[in-house]
Amino acid sequence: MSSETVRAAIVTGAARGIGAATAKRLAVEGFAVAVLDLDESSCEAVVSEITAAGGSALGVGADVSDEQSVQSAVEHVADALGTPLVLVNNAGVIRDNMMYKMSSSDWDTVMNVHLRGSFLMSRAVQKYMTEAKWGRIINLSSTSALGNRGQANYAAAKAGLQGFTKTLAIELGRFGITANAIAPGFIETEMTQATAERIGVPFEEFRDAVVENIAVGRSGKPEDIANSVAFLAGDGAGFISGQTLYVSGGPAA
Ligand code: NAD
Repeated sequence: MSSETVRAAIVTGAARGIGAATAKRLAVEGFAVAVLDLDESSCEAVVSEITAAGGSALGVGADVSDEQSVQSAVEHVADALGTPLVLVNNAGVIRDNMMYKMSSSDWDTVMNVHLRGSFLMSRAVQKYMTEAKWGRIINLSSTSALGNRGQANYAAAKAGLQGFTKTLAIELGRFGITANAIAPGFIETEMTQATAERIGVPFEEFRDAVVENIAVGRSGKPEDIANSVAFLAGDGAGFISGQTLYVSGGPAA
């Protein structure tokens, strides 16, 4: 890799929540950041914040579960921003329901965004990483991978991502690429707000009940996850691969 190569990071689902915090943090770490989400215009606020702080960022509209959309998005990042050397597979959706009531379409949607999306994105960026002999792939799993009532689809996808991560670590390690998963616990975002709404409890009440069982006695913030991503994306983490880091304020299980 020449010293002039612009090191780009792609963060999927980066218009808000954990992805937005991660995009901003990776910009502080010196990466040019592709802020990727379903709708390019939804990325504007994060892109402006990064550029106003002196960083480099590009908003990209793409659906991670769509092969053609992913291919064009990654090529666009490589042409317009820099070589994609960090990929954070963060885009996510929930379609919670008890398994006996879960529709096949809610099963498929969750599998497609989390698993197919992470596969398509990783396959598209590995070419740049293997050429550069350096890369970092970080997949967002969840404590739900250990099992969670009402989340058969999501738990399966998040557990699947851990197996996917380990395999990428084995296949890509010799090219200087590490692959790790981060499994957050309860993080305050629109996703957890939606869960509170679904079960019909005010968000504060829902959060406070969850916090009762969190060892450090507080809920997680998107920045807690962004900090872990920054660590795993750094040069210093080059001997950590195939791991799942639970970031949940206590023992995961
Ligand atoms: P969020 O709902 O606030 O944000 C998710 C983002 O992903 C949204 O901006 C959405 O538009 C985008 N997205 C959804 N489908 C997409 C697609 N097909 N293509 C591109 N973008 C898409 O969620 P969050 O809480 O910030 O969660 C981020 C990640 O962390 C998710 O993978 C989630 O499963 C995981 N996670 C969250 C928590 C939590 O407590 N919030 C806990 C564990 C894991």
